[in-house]
Amino acid sequence: MRLVNMLAQVDAEKCTGCKTCVKVCPTLAIQIVDRKAVIDSEKCRSCNNCQQRCPVYAITMVKREKPFKVYVDPATEDRTKIDELCAKAKFNPEQIICYCTETRAEEIAAAILKGYDTPEKISLHTGVRTGCKVECIQPVLRLLEAAGITPERPDGWQWYGRTPTVWDIPEDVKAKYSKRGFYFDNDIELLNKVAQTKKSGKEDN
Ligand code: SF4
Ligand code: SF4
Repeated sequence: MRLVNMLAQVDAEKCTGCKTCVKVCPTLAIQIVDRKAVIDSEKCRSCNNCQQRCPVYAITMVKREKPFKVYVDPATEDRTKIDELCAKAKFNPEQIICYCTETRAEEIAAAILKGYDTPEKISLHTGVRTGCKVECIQPVLRLLEAAGITPERPDGWQWYGRTPTVWDIPEDVKAKYSKRGFYFDNDIELLNKVAQTKKSGKEDN
């Protein structure tokens, strides 16, 4: 859940139309019109990214008159499908995947089931990736991949692709490095167990 209480505003006098802000906005809320940045207030999720990156300090964050929350309620989607998607992406549904917004895997799975099929749409509707802008893109991409979706990357620097996880390491690489003090299979076993333990704990309640 994201409380959206700030809004980015552009000083058109200062803006040079360089597009840097366009390329860092996680919700694609900025367009260049007549060589000036224009922010869609409905789409801005108050992440500060544009303000921090503008080379001429043309953007300021202002308080919204009417703050609002963005959140996708997992209860509005099929629980079995949410659990299946999370399991396929190797997440416990209750696992927090964005610490800035305390977003859990089940919320992103529900957002995907609603048809939000890009990281940008998911950010817009859940607020994920609008805090530190760093940590949660990988879980989002893993959940999209689990749903069979390969999103097109925006023409910017918002993200670059999914990085490998411990589950992706080829057997020969695991064998080679296991002799050097790496225990990938143990890590996988533990991570799988943690997810399963939480899930069965929930079922027991
Ligand atoms: S980064 Fe700053 S100067 Fe560049 S387009 Fe955006 S507001 Fe204008
Ligand atoms: S979401 Fe972030 S980057 Fe996009 S306009 Fe709002 S503050 Fe700027």
